[in-house]
Amino acid sequence: MPQFAPNLSPARNFAGRRLGAYIDGQIVQSPGSSLRDIFDPATGQVLAQVFDSDAATVDAAVASAKRAFEDGRWSSRPAPERERVLMRLADLIETNGEELAELETLNQGKSIGLSRFFDVAWSVNYVRYIAGLATKVTGETLDLSIGFPPGVRYTGMTLREPIGVVAGIAPWNFPLAIGLWKVIPALAAGCTAVLKPSELTPLTALRLAELATEAGLPAGALNVVPGAGATGQALASHRDVAKITFTGSAATGRRVGQAALENLSRFTLELGGKNPAIFCEDVDVAAALPGAITAAYLNQGQVCAAASRFYVHRKRLDAMVEALSGAIQTMSIGPGMDPTAQINPLVSAAQRDRVQSFLDGVDRSGATTIVRGDAAPEQGYFVSPHLILNPSADAAVQREEVFGPVLTITPFDDYDEVVAAANDSPYGLGASIWTNDLARSMRMTRAIRAGTVWVNTHALLDPAMPFGGFKQSGIGREFGKDALGPFLETKSVCIATPA
Ligand code: NDP
Repeated sequence: MPQFAPNLSPARNFAGRRLGAYIDGQIVQSPGSSLRDIFDPATGQVLAQVFDSDAATVDAAVASAKRAFEDGRWSSRPAPERERVLMRLADLIETNGEELAELETLNQGKSIGLSRFFDVAWSVNYVRYIAGLATKVTGETLDLSIGFPPGVRYTGMTLREPIGVVAGIAPWNFPLAIGLWKVIPALAAGCTAVLKPSELTPLTALRLAELATEAGLPAGALNVVPGAGATGQALASHRDVAKITFTGSAATGRRVGQAALENLSRFTLELGGKNPAIFCEDVDVAAALPGAITAAYLNQGQVCAAASRFYVHRKRLDAMVEALSGAIQTMSIGPGMDPTAQINPLVSAAQRDRVQSFLDGVDRSGATTIVRGDAAPEQGYFVSPHLILNPSADAAVQREEVFGPVLTITPFDDYDEVVAAANDSPYGLGASIWTNDLARSMRMTRAIRAGTVWVNTHALLDPAMPFGGFKQSGIGREFGKDALGPFLETKSVCIATPA
């Protein structure tokens, strides 16, 4: 076992505490609620204990956010002030980055390098980009053509106003980063928010709330309610929630959408994918390999945009399979806190078992499986990286979101056929095309039904680039210059003056 960071590191001190919801600017413990063990996926050991938020706690959190919205302590602050507070939060995430990265890795299992680079550093850029949008919200002036009564002239304009209390529901694969996607645009727009992290990974969300208070966010503007599905359901169906922003599975997304419709609250859903990567006949396999490995196995494949279906032109198939199987044989498996480990544990025992059940299905189907030779460690929730060659088009591993280190490879000969195969999925989050043939890449880009198409890279996200899904991968877009739009209502104003 490698040496971990010293016991005195801040993350470890935080992790030993007994925690609960964050309401009105402080952590509260809900004595009536059940206490949940939070595990370190690398060891299966208990890392911390957190009270689930029952319906009364959710109610208190929403009431706190509603007060903070209605009395204007956040919503009426001038936009430059809101921007300044969120910029300060970005600075605090940066200065506390090592603690947050360590906490994320200890709780979620992922590599410490990924936590540093993405969950922290990428998120700092994200918060700064979105904070900057707070001061760019504009309405329109409208040329009205109403012609009566005579002697009256009308001027129309639109105001953009924050929508109210926002419920953010985040998953366990990128708890801090996606938690920020759920609440920062809402706060930048002047809304107040209640964030529900996954029951498995609540620690960085709670730390984030503390940092937000330190940055100057007023009490009640951001509350956090840890807990399981029942907590999410109570939040999604709360009458005082004006808007829900959800990231997670399509099945839960449907339930969230139904709860929202019941109250006619607004909602956006980011629901994952079964993303194809198409390697054309001109691909330079050696040059593409690092990107291909990252596309498939980053965070053990627990990435909504991960490439889980590779389609390889038959002329490159042998070279690609040889390169990929060579790569997985040499991948080291270990805890995320070991910076040299390339494959880390899955988030939970349940997720490991879910992935294993997909693999058991493959073994029975007759497709060829290539797996890393050495067995994965027995302690912790590890699954070795797998390659599945030639699965049938209707195999579960080829159609469903596995969310594990499992990649399928299917050969192709014809470009129209491969685009049809890539599109043959209920999902449409992302896709990548690997080629130096510009005309071909543009033809395929237009034909692929997905929210993002990457060329010669995969799953690269940027705060400036809208992100979201076609088909069952979701409703709405995050990021980009319009990121605050879903958190604003448009108010039309019509002013009559003597002509
Ligand atoms: P879920 O979609 O169930 O979880 C996402 C979030 O929704 C979590 O905070 C969850 O809480 C919460 N939630 C659960 N039930 C409800 C409900 N009825 N109302 C409101 N919120 C609810 O994902 P799972 O954890 O069950 O993962 C299952 C699969 O989903 C994965 O294997 C993967 O395929 C996919 N997934 C996709 C993600 C993505 O990024 N698109 C992220 C996570 C999962 P809690 O976790 O506490 O139950």
